[in-house]
Amino acid sequence: MTSTITDYRLDGIYKQRQDDFYMQRVKLPAGVISAVQARTVAAVATRFGQGMIHLTSRGSMEIHWLHETDLPQVKRELAMAGLTARGACGGAVRGITCASQGTQGFPILETLARRLHRHFTGNPRFERLPKKFKIGIEADTSGGRHLIQDVGLVLAGSEDGRSCFDIWIAGGLGKEPRPGFLMAERIAEERIIPIIEAVVAVYARHAPPPKRLKFLAAEFGEAKLRQLIEAESVFHEELPLVSGLADHFVPATQGRQRLELPVFAGQLTAGQLEQIIAVAEQHAEGVLMVTANQDIALLLAPGSDAAALLHRVQQTTGLAADAHSPVLRICSGNHECRMGLTATRALAREILADMSESGQKLSWALSGCHNSCSQPQLADVGIVTSSLVKDAQGERIPRFDLYRRGEGGLGNVVERSLTRDELIGKLKAVG
Ligand code: SF4
Repeated sequence: MTSTITDYRLDGIYKQRQDDFYMQRVKLPAGVISAVQARTVAAVATRFGQGMIHLTSRGSMEIHWLHETDLPQVKRELAMAGLTARGACGGAVRGITCASQGTQGFPILETLARRLHRHFTGNPRFERLPKKFKIGIEADTSGGRHLIQDVGLVLAGSEDGRSCFDIWIAGGLGKEPRPGFLMAERIAEERIIPIIEAVVAVYARHAPPPKRLKFLAAEFGEAKLRQLIEAESVFHEELPLVSGLADHFVPATQGRQRLELPVFAGQLTAGQLEQIIAVAEQHAEGVLMVTANQDIALLLAPGSDAAALLHRVQQTTGLAADAHSPVLRICSGNHECRMGLTATRALAREILADMSESGQKLSWALSGCHNSCSQPQLADVGIVTSSLVKDAQGERIPRFDLYRRGEGGLGNVVERSLTRDELIGKLKAVG
């Protein structure tokens, strides 16, 4: 039977902008991947995907430039390494993200991410939803990432030895950004899965495709949405934690240094990834992390020389040229994405070339369309390609909205529909 595009999406596959090419996204709980698994991703990218890997701001890895005929073999090879793409695209519970990898509580967060990943991935109850359903787990609210999830979980301490989480719901970016609202406080871990199930059930029943959960918050109001969720029978259930050996890959952080390897626009060659894997195997207990800023991080074994290792990786991978970069998240744009309205990587290099010294201390994000995959509303300076406008010669030229973020919440638009030259001019002065 021929696969439909919907089937491909649930397998984590989108068609690329370039005809006849596909992108395969791989879900990594909390952005964590073992060296063995990463080696498989590198091998698959080399054999089928022109040797390139893209790191996303949700801690996933993507392999572009795949032929349709190779997709089944790509899926098999990833699966044999214990990797899954199920629900990485389309109307499903997406990869469980975490931007708090550098915090002391990260093993707790990674453990919960793995538990949620196991529960919601490939389960027909949580697929064929009106649109994507995003879950993120954070150590605190400082980065604002809990505000952009359908369900954002924030560690709120522990009671009787059990971790508790605040639950934020119905946030999202895109054309109509809306921050999530606090639905429940200090919820014990045993109740997290049933509550998320209740949220998904209400979403699936009431939201028309292709609307996100935030649509229901706007339609019904927060109070009614909360009532509907609390009325679900599953809402009050508890699922006992299964005791046993630890689930997390990343060891406890005490006494360890974190090594961050900047990767421009999340674009990594398979060869560069192989070099990083070698360091991870020798010095980081065989574990790599894809960060929320599209970089790679390693948690080094006690006694490791972080500076020497950074130098070694930069020498062997050639990633050194970007080491001075500010935090800068960049989506694929029209380099590969069908939705992209501009060449994001090319524009980012132009912005970097003119960036002031004080601008380099800020966080930046650039998205190729309103979908806002690089989360521009969470950066100090966010750029969204908002439209294509015909010029005097009839050529379609991109226009940009500029966002600035203050102390909390989501960033706001401060300039609309700028031309490229106007944008570059404004950005030179940012700092
Ligand atoms: S923001 Fe738009 S252009 Fe960029 S990756 Fe997302 S959908 Fe594609």
